[in-house]
Amino acid sequence: YDTDVFQPMLHKIGEICGCEYGKDEKTDIAMRVIADHIRTIAFAITDGQLPSNEKAGYVIRRILRRAVRYGYTFLGQREAFMYRLVPQLIEDMGDAYPELRKQEQQIIPVIKSEEEAFLRTLDKGITLLDKLMREAKGKEISGVDVFTLKDTYGFPLDLTELILRENGFTTNEEEYNKALEHQKEMGRSANKHDLGDWVVLREGDTEFVGYDTLEVETQVLRYRKVSQKGKEFYQVVLAKTPFYAEMGGQVGDTGSLGTARIIDTKRENNLAVHICTELPDAIEQPLVAKVDADRRQAIACNHTCTHILHYALRTVLGQHVEQKGSLVTPDSLRFDFSHYQKVTPEELREVERLANQFIRMDYALEESRHTPIAKAREMGAMALFGEKYGDDVRVIKYGPSIELCGGCHVSSTGRIGAVRILMETSVAAGVRRIEAVTAAKVDELYFAQQDMLANLRGLLNNAPDLAGAVQKAISENAGLKKEIETYMVEKLEQFRDRLIERAEDYNGIKLVRVQGEVQPDMVRGVLPLLRGRFTDVRFAVIGATEWEGKPMISVFLSQPLVDAGLHAGQMIKSAAKHIQGGGGGQAWMATAGGRNAEGLQAAMEELLTALK
Ligand SMILES: [Zn+2]
Repeated sequence: YDTDVFQPMLHKIGEICGCEYGKDEKTDIAMRVIADHIRTIAFAITDGQLPSNEKAGYVIRRILRRAVRYGYTFLGQREAFMYRLVPQLIEDMGDAYPELRKQEQQIIPVIKSEEEAFLRTLDKGITLLDKLMREAKGKEISGVDVFTLKDTYGFPLDLTELILRENGFTTNEEEYNKALEHQKEMGRSANKHDLGDWVVLREGDTEFVGYDTLEVETQVLRYRKVSQKGKEFYQVVLAKTPFYAEMGGQVGDTGSLGTARIIDTKRENNLAVHICTELPDAIEQPLVAKVDADRRQAIACNHTCTHILHYALRTVLGQHVEQKGSLVTPDSLRFDFSHYQKVTPEELREVERLANQFIRMDYALEESRHTPIAKAREMGAMALFGEKYGDDVRVIKYGPSIELCGGCHVSSTGRIGAVRILMETSVAAGVRRIEAVTAAKVDELYFAQQDMLANLRGLLNNAPDLAGAVQKAISENAGLKKEIETYMVEKLEQFRDRLIERAEDYNGIKLVRVQGEVQPDMVRGVLPLLRGRFTDVRFAVIGATEWEGKPMISVFLSQPLVDAGLHAGQMIKSAAKHIQGGGGGQAWMATAGGRNAEGLQAAMEELLTALK
């Protein structure tokens, strides 16, 4: 291990974590792991590879987590610290790799938020583990619990084992392995992917003609049957194809091949694979392959609009904006880009205004295929970071926008008609996302909004000033609410006074029986109003009421009765069984609802007996 290169970084780690290299073997290992990993992570992010749950992004996430764990376990780091190492890394390597320095403000927040998220996972796992150890009967933790910690909470297994060991606990490995095996089996049956053998009709490679035409006569090179999740379909490879295979965020084309439907086109090992629900008739003969033209046009509108939004975003927000990903379907587009804060509504509107102006300029597509990459850069083409380009690239130019791109484009921007941004959100630290629609979908959106406004206006008697009418309705409603509250208080007070008047003597208690049809809210509302009235009188209310067929029982007891040992909550709990209900409450007041109004009399009698 060449520690010389790493010396400044090791020193920096020691400074931040309060330790020194060369004193303790375990500490040294941890410091070397962190010094090595921060380099890998920072370079990956610089190359545009953000931590995620998929593929290469997942590898980066795991490397980062490994470093955080070493810091957590051996250097006692309970807070994010790795991101603080980035300036040191740039000092060490920024001259050799200027891109690192350029992207510093992108790298730091990404690492910091990843670290913080993982530390929260660690904290949660440790809390759960503590609880398991506290509640364990002996010194063994169930293997199922350990598995759940890892599987559900993402808590690393080696850390669980370490903590258990430190506390003198063990786990049941047999149970753990069983749980793991069970989960694997579930996964296998869900993902079963049965691939048949390729049937080769002709040797050869595919020629893609889909930039220039949507329909071509072609021949099948080979095909195979695939079964997945109980469904069967065929993968077909063609000699010539106009079908664009899913790539760079643009979905694959659909269409027909002779008598068969092509429901998707995927790319496998850079090969266009057409997905068919059945095989075409006369599969050995020449067949016509035809792309669904309207769908492709909608995709081309949305895809071209990502170039336009890219240009507009850079113009409005600044040249730090770079494309970080996109998803283009016939219905909408999604565009991810680097930017450090929320795009304000004003900025967003300016982007939308500029993009629509760009569309109306009706810039023609200027495409040059097979351009050497050096020449493309000379032309000022924007290349995506982290994307690997061959020497031979395709340059797409519309007016001032020049990009390297392999997607499908419209012949001039006017064909897009219009673009409307639907929303702007955050995807990861330093990465924002815009979702938008174009062309006919803009009409649909406009119609839907128009209908909504017309409906609202109709509800408000076609008021010319809609906002004013809504505002008026809201204030009126608030006024009415207040009036009702006042009115309710008055009504409850009258109800209370009527109840008090009806009090009769019962075993030395002033007792009020409430029966018949009474709203539950009235009962619940009136009982608290009695409390202050009878602080030194033996006073009780027993309710057995009904509203809309539903029974309710209630009890109020004055303080002297509570002091004498009566408990309204317990009385109600016991009597509620007569009305097939449940409920309870405090010593001085309790209520219960039920399902059987027939039992009200029996409940009333039980409550009266309890007062004796
Ligand atoms: Zn493009």
